[in-house]
Formats: sequence, C-alpha cells, structure tokens
Amino acid sequence: MKSEYKIGGHWFKIEFKSEKREQYDKMATTLHWENRIIIQKDLVESKQISSLFHEVLHEIDKQHFLDLRETQITTIAEGFYAFLVDNGMLKKEEITEISNDQWVIGEND
Ligand SMILES: [Zn+2]
Repeated sequence: MKSEYKIGGHWFKIEFKSEKREQYDKMATTLHWENRIIIQKDLVESKQISSLFHEVLHEIDKQHFLDLRETQITTIAEGFYAFLVDNGMLKKEEITEISNDQWVIGEND
C-alpha cells in the first residue's frame, strides 16, 4: 500500500497502527481534518484493502456532502472490492504486495 493517496484533490497519509481490540473496534478510521487514514495493522491483507476502500468512500462522502449512511458505505466498499477481486482486476498476489508495502508509523507513540 502506498503511504499516500490522493482523494478528490487532497493527499491523504496512510498509517498502520496496532491497537488493543477493546480500544479500537473499528478496522480503520479517517481523520478528515488531518488528511490521515489509519488502518488496523493486524488485519488480514484483504480487509486492509477493503478498509482502505471504505475510508476513501467516507472521504468522498464528506467532500461531496452525499450524506451516505454507514451501511451504504460498507456495502459499496465491499461490493466494489469484490467486483475487482472476482473479475481478476485485483489478484491475491497483488493484494499481498499492496499490503506488504506498509508504511508503518506510530510504533512508539
Ligand atoms: Zn465507516
């Protein structure tokens, strides 16, 4: 996964953190005002990628005032992820490659 992605003209930093599950029940979160997406480091590869899609959708939702509900974002993100995987546009080895190229920060903070 790249360390930064551009979403609608704004660069977002991707960070991986490992938090105790009881403190961090979400798989990922977006800090919209800081242009940061934080993904749970311990997630399996496929869920890291689908979580990134999910958080990108949250940002698009915010930028365009779509007012999507959480269930809509979850459905669209997982549906689009499945479309890419099921049609060979995102292969397992590519998912592993994307996931292994993590930009790990926050180990000591
Ligand atoms: Zn969400």
